[in-house]
Amino acid sequence: NNEIDFEDEDDELLLKSVNECEAVVTKNSTKPQFPLTSGDGQIVPLQKFRHGYLWVSDLSSQSWCEQQMFYKFTVPGVIEENPAMTKGTDLHLARELAAHDVVQVQVTSNEDIWAIKVLNLLTAINAFQFGQTIAREVPIFGVPFKEEDIFVVGLIDELRFDPENYTIDLSELKTRTSRMNPSKAVTKQHKIQVMLYKRLFDNLVKGTLSKNTITKHLRLDLNKDFGDQIVKHLEEKTIIKKNLNDLMDHVFEKMQSLTCINQLHVEYVYQGTAETLSHVTHPYDEGEIKTLYLDYLKFWKGERLPTGVDIEEAWKCQRCDFESICEWRTKKSEECAQRNIQKNHLY
Ligand code: SF4
Repeated sequence: NNEIDFEDEDDELLLKSVNECEAVVTKNSTKPQFPLTSGDGQIVPLQKFRHGYLWVSDLSSQSWCEQQMFYKFTVPGVIEENPAMTKGTDLHLARELAAHDVVQVQVTSNEDIWAIKVLNLLTAINAFQFGQTIAREVPIFGVPFKEEDIFVVGLIDELRFDPENYTIDLSELKTRTSRMNPSKAVTKQHKIQVMLYKRLFDNLVKGTLSKNTITKHLRLDLNKDFGDQIVKHLEEKTIIKKNLNDLMDHVFEKMQSLTCINQLHVEYVYQGTAETLSHVTHPYDEGEIKTLYLDYLKFWKGERLPTGVDIEEAWKCQRCDFESICEWRTKKSEECAQRNIQKNHLY
């Protein structure tokens, strides 16, 4: 896969990517409340690999190959940072810096970390209300579909506000190491990503996310006072809020003055020259994203094992870092051999 996705959604990496604070806290080591174990008492992947909540990039990775995503969690050291990843990160950062200044703020608790996320969301809302038309690196979070009480967090590359028509479009930046058009599989992965962003954003606009839901999933103390640096930073922005309870009330109310996402775009940029190769616009299909999402969650809840690619997509294995150890691939090869299909023809 020569598509490079630089959405660093691990907690500490997210903090770096928004460049709004120094991560000096240790991650919360207490276990989240649910769902903890599957029916057979095993700790489920959601807890084992992701501390009880998911990132949008987890779900879009699943659409490429769930088995590969599983190996990334369980077989460390195989994938290392390479020059293409660094280049992609640089291009994302350059775009971000063109939209807003960044400052460093020291955080001292998980509540401070979430204050930064919420504050960055507020910065985007305010930007639109004060005449700007572009906001970049916008945190988003919530429960995508009420059928499954799972919390999901993401980071939207870009929102574009059209004040005349009062619309907001979403655009995701993807950098490529070649000038070739993205494959269908790559395009599908990105479509899932932007549809989930829209769902999360729209839920906030519609006011369907409650503070209690956030507390339950993230184990935050909404009434815990922010650290001094956060309070000072808020005051500089004339926001007088001392805890998440107050800050979230303020931000959620403001979100409801916005409008739902109108169009979903993915922009493909060539790493070599930073020029735009193409724009793809995806229609939002709620039935499609809901069906996929609920299926992906079965893995995270421990209801089924990870699955690899179908025979038709076996070409993905040839560029996979886990090809030599992949049990799914071996199993499929044996099934093919049994059907008198030459093993190396498809895999
Ligand atoms: Fe997935 Fe193929 Fe890689 Fe296995 S070898 S993890 S099936 S892409």
